[in-house]
Amino acid sequence: AIEVRDLHKYFGQNEVLKGIDMTVDTGQVVCVIGPSGSGKSTLLRCVNLLETPTRGKVFVEGVEVTDPDVDIDAVRRRIGMVFQQFNLFPHMTALENVMIAQRRVLKRGRKEAEVIARENLDKVGVGAKCDALPTQLSGGQQQRVAIARALAMSPDLMLFDEPTSALDPELVGDVLTVMRKLAEEGMTMLVVTHEMGFARQVADRVVFMDGGVVVEDGPSSQVIGDPQQERTRTFLHRVL
Ligand code: ATP
Ligand code: MG
Repeated sequence: AIEVRDLHKYFGQNEVLKGIDMTVDTGQVVCVIGPSGSGKSTLLRCVNLLETPTRGKVFVEGVEVTDPDVDIDAVRRRIGMVFQQFNLFPHMTALENVMIAQRRVLKRGRKEAEVIARENLDKVGVGAKCDALPTQLSGGQQQRVAIARALAMSPDLMLFDEPTSALDPELVGDVLTVMRKLAEEGMTMLVVTHEMGFARQVADRVVFMDGGVVVEDGPSSQVIGDPQQERTRTFLHRVL
């Protein structure tokens, strides 16, 4: 589970998150939607401490990650993150990309890391591409390798920041299918996305952010199908 309490983040004088409260229960999928610059990525990055929150608290699996004494590496190890840009190592094969952090961070042996890498590459549908370099893969395949790489670390939960935004339209579905499968398996997921169909069908809740605040938070069918706030309606009219 993720719990965010009164989270504020400043970049210099610029207050980008203005008191965010949000919960993702274990096994739930929560989608965050909202206009560019509203603070969605910053929120995700505060959850895994890629950014240091200025004020407020974040709990991951009951552990306060904003506690100054927390072991940041231990926290990050439990959280898988998938970005818009896949960030694969260009000189490594798909298999090597999925093995490297297992070896370096979790200190898994070569055999074990390889078995787990192959399992996860199979799971996301790119098992046949183990020996391919990133340049030999489509964007959708690269993103699925990136998902396999995160899953291979056996995370407690997954953060996705617009995982399909950099993809050609015909490749989006493959990635969303993998994410839907993960959700069905009970993975706890916090997903920033512009894919309203996915949010509506897969998310337990949708959070609409604008200007660094949560404007609306509710069941996905309600927030997308029958929003209560004018700002949410205006945003949805623009994107749907
Ligand atoms: P998008 O939909 O375009 O990805 P977003 O909702 O993810 O937008 P953020 O990336 O969280 O928005 O950015 C929120 C605000 O914080 C923006 O005004 C941005 O310029 C600012 N910001 C983000 N990262 C930094 C940084 N490292 N230093 C300074 N300002 C930043
Ligand atoms: Mg963003």
